[in-house]
Amino acid sequence: MRKPIIAGNWKMNKTVSEANTFAEAVKNSIPSNDKVDSVIGSPALFLTDLVKIAKGTDLKISAQNCYFENSGAFTGETSPAALADLGVDYVIIGHSERREYFGETDEDINKKAKAIIANGMTPILCCGETLETYEAGKTAEWIEGQITGGLKDLTDEQVSNLVIAYEPIWAIGTGKSADANIADEICGVVRSTVVKLYNDTVASKVRIQYGGSVKPENIAEYMSKENVDGALVGGAALEVDSFLALLEAVK
Ligand code: PGA
Repeated sequence: MRKPIIAGNWKMNKTVSEANTFAEAVKNSIPSNDKVDSVIGSPALFLTDLVKIAKGTDLKISAQNCYFENSGAFTGETSPAALADLGVDYVIIGHSERREYFGETDEDINKKAKAIIANGMTPILCCGETLETYEAGKTAEWIEGQITGGLKDLTDEQVSNLVIAYEPIWAIGTGKSADANIADEICGVVRSTVVKLYNDTVASKVRIQYGGSVKPENIAEYMSKENVDGALVGGAALEVDSFLALLEAVK
């Protein structure tokens, strides 16, 4: 039985004080970690405060990116070792916005996954296709390529503990969420890629989220699907009531 994981992805929104107010408001209303992992994916600037606020509660904190080296002459980058030292639990990697606007490749994402795991944190590795790829009927092939590149040389145990997020680019921030059956089908493609690259045991453990216009009103339908173990949520995770409603719908 895979434990559901709901992660908010704030993207580049909020200020430090807004982030702190949010975390203070939700931290004591988070469902038990026995039932669901509840995560906020925050800009790096807010992490120090958020980790302190979340300490001793069931709220987990995620970064939205990091570099693949622990230290050195990499101006402006965020060290995975520093994130781990702070008490960050997860790091989102390979989001389509990072791939598109910042030129991240599957190779970069693979290096980041290894660095995050080496520092004792859990990657949330994103994959997803453009509308063009979707309409050309090439989604499965595309997803298989991204997963194969992203997981390169990771061990059975590392992949078993990983979170993978399937986010069709055409459904992100558009209000046009993917049909739950399509989400289930493509999350199934992710899982069968893991079977091919590893085995059934690893594939039965890896948690796969759907992301793209998930809201309190539609999350239950996604979560009812066999291959969907959680959600990565942008817009609907920005407000306290909506974030708590997402968690409430799942627990
Ligand atoms: P959205 O964003 O929920 O606003 O569509 C999802 C994401 O980009 O992770």
